[in-house]
Amino acid sequence: TAKRSGRGGIVAFDQSMQDRLRETLTVSRLLRGALERDELMLYVQPQIRLRDGRTSGAEALLRWRLPDGSMIPPATFIRAAEHSGQIVEIGAWVLAKACALLAGLTDRGIACPRMAVNVSPRQFRDPDFVRMAIGTVRRAGLSPSAIELEITESLLLDDREAMTGLLHDLRSEGFRIAVDDFGTGYSSLSYLQRLPVDCVKIDRSFVKSLESDRSARTIAACITRLGQELGLTTLAEGVETREQEAILRDLGCDEAQGFLYAAPMPAPALADWL
Ligand code: C2E
Ligand code: MG
Ligand code: MG
Ligand code: MG
Repeated sequence: TAKRSGRGGIVAFDQSMQDRLRETLTVSRLLRGALERDELMLYVQPQIRLRDGRTSGAEALLRWRLPDGSMIPPATFIRAAEHSGQIVEIGAWVLAKACALLAGLTDRGIACPRMAVNVSPRQFRDPDFVRMAIGTVRRAGLSPSAIELEITESLLLDDREAMTGLLHDLRSEGFRIAVDDFGTGYSSLSYLQRLPVDCVKIDRSFVKSLESDRSARTIAACITRLGQELGLTTLAEGVETREQEAILRDLGCDEAQGFLYAAPMPAPALADWL
């Protein structure tokens, strides 16, 4: 948002706004080339059921591979893609790739119960999103119930009524809904009760310090309990050690995802891993 300066409401950009704008423009120009040159890649990370260690699904994670082979992590370009609107096209590509991967596994008789896909708030504001999502899933020969859409709490800061309606539409089509990075946003807890949500993902920042920090443990315990009481699946992200896993299992957390099991891998590697 631009600052209003003095009388007349003249809008002035300060230096950091200018920097951010320039960064967005640069990244989005590079990204256009990336799309044309097919440089985006789908990575996936398995999700594990703590009760029995079986794979419950996998999360699709976007990577950008430059011609020199180096990988650009999504944190550095997703925000620019949101600002430029390119995330709408990119997000549709990710969903289609994730569906193709899951359909391919199913054809080969390799069980992968579901695929989770990150959806940015900007995509939800696209009036065509629900139709696009249903069409993409159906064209791959899948049921929406095999797809979990990961949303962030910030989505609900947008336009609560409209977003709640959208989530209900998606849910009634059969999609599963997960709240990503739970506990780091600004929304109130009550929306978990109000919204059609299936899964809560406990943010990695709490998991990371489970062994050393009592308050992180308390927060993880509370989120798990909240999920249980509301009948939701709880999934801990960023699990790296057996100790963290043991604590989470004791708390009653249902599922986990993290380097302990597998780092994100290129989509074609998932079949062997499974
Ligand atoms: P996220 O959805 O919370 O994904 C989890 C992130 O944690 C991933 O980072 C993953 O590689 C990383 N991670 C998983 N296990 C561990 C672990 O044990 N230790 C550590 N240190 N990290 C772990 P990544 O792939 O860099 O993605 C970052 C974020 O970018 C994602 O966070 C998500 O918000 C966003 N993102 C990724 N792909 C997409 C996409 O297709 N669309 C949209 N809109 N956002 C995406
Ligand atoms: Mg996610
Ligand atoms: Mg997450
Ligand atoms: Mg996260």
